[in-house]
Amino acid sequence: MASRANHRVLVGCTLLCAAALLCSGVTILAAAEGPSPSPVATSNFPVASDARLAGDARQTRFVLDLDRTVQFRAFTLADPYRVVVDLPQVSFELPAGVGIAGRGLVKAFRYGLVMPGGSRIVFDLTGPARIAKSYVLPAANGQPPRLVLELEEVDRTSFVQSLAPENRPELKPAIADATGSIVAQVQAPAPLRPAAPDSRPVIVIDAGHGGVDNGTQASGESEKNLVLGFALALRDRIEKNGKYRVVMTRTDDTFIPLDDRVKIARNQSASLFVSIHADALPRGEGDAQGATIYTLSDKASDAEAERLAEAENKADAIGGVNLTEEPTDVADILIDLARRETRTFSNRFARLLMGEMRNTVRMYKHPLKSAGFKVLKAPDVPSVLVELGYVSNKGDLEHLVSDSWRSRTVGSMAQAIDLFMAKRVARAGATN
Ligand SMILES: [Zn+2]
Repeated sequence: MASRANHRVLVGCTLLCAAALLCSGVTILAAAEGPSPSPVATSNFPVASDARLAGDARQTRFVLDLDRTVQFRAFTLADPYRVVVDLPQVSFELPAGVGIAGRGLVKAFRYGLVMPGGSRIVFDLTGPARIAKSYVLPAANGQPPRLVLELEEVDRTSFVQSLAPENRPELKPAIADATGSIVAQVQAPAPLRPAAPDSRPVIVIDAGHGGVDNGTQASGESEKNLVLGFALALRDRIEKNGKYRVVMTRTDDTFIPLDDRVKIARNQSASLFVSIHADALPRGEGDAQGATIYTLSDKASDAEAERLAEAENKADAIGGVNLTEEPTDVADILIDLARRETRTFSNRFARLLMGEMRNTVRMYKHPLKSAGFKVLKAPDVPSVLVELGYVSNKGDLEHLVSDSWRSRTVGSMAQAIDLFMAKRVARAGATN
């Protein structure tokens, strides 16, 4: 218990330090405490207008053009090798496609929001490298203010030694904790008094990806945006009937680590967790279409499910979360029992959902599958992940951006949730 409490204090400190470093601590905390997680007007944020890479496989330089100087923090992460730059919230107005092609030590880079008030750039490296120099230059000689990062090739041993203490194997990720704490505050502000609790069952709707993690992309559409639009529409539909309280893991374009999504469901003692995604087949790997419903299993139902789970589980690496595993909990027979019961409920909901969806939506030829999705791992919350369709398929993509398709699909999902919850409530009533 004591170590748990210490850990919380540490997390709090980390958050405050991170906030101070980002020089917008007030903005972050204010945004987190407000009723809506959406930050203040976009126009107040520094603007990043261009980004470029130079150099070779031994030394690579990254330059980001800004409209004013900012404070930042840069650090490295292992397995896979990454460099993360945390900034105060920035409006990225970079040329389309920037970051897809790398150079030298940088394979590719992505950027986006990681929390209200905080942006991040994540670089995938071709191998171990150290941050030789990192600085912000004020405007000079007709050049705008610039953030510069100089990377140098190193061997793995020096790389591991150069990792910040909080990123070394024995400790939890500082940034993931900071993000998590903010998420927890945004999603579930601690009640000041226990008056009039909302006792309705909680349904957690999880829009996949977000912020620095775009998810799959095709024809100018990002999975993160498609699934957010869908998830918000699903929330509105479920809330209409008034029987359930809906909690979203995200309501804007913010990166949320997979663990934090699970934590939100568990902290809310949710009755159901529904994760919304859209799949894509890699180029040259044929065509597939239709919606698929996934549940958790130790062994994937087929190779395709395994590929997908692997791709979805990469979200944390893409978002720049330290992937060092926490020591796993001691095996607990009670957790095991809960997990088994939860899987039964997850499978029941998956079948109900398929029954409802196939009346209105094109389904994949084998629409019920399972694999080791991290986001479905709450031991006590029935969880399913729905791939709405393939953004790589022309017909599916047309559906995904169509209001009438969305409305029909949202309707069938809300219906399935209602059927599932009705049975659970009836069962709970019968056993009391
Ligand atoms: Zn996805």
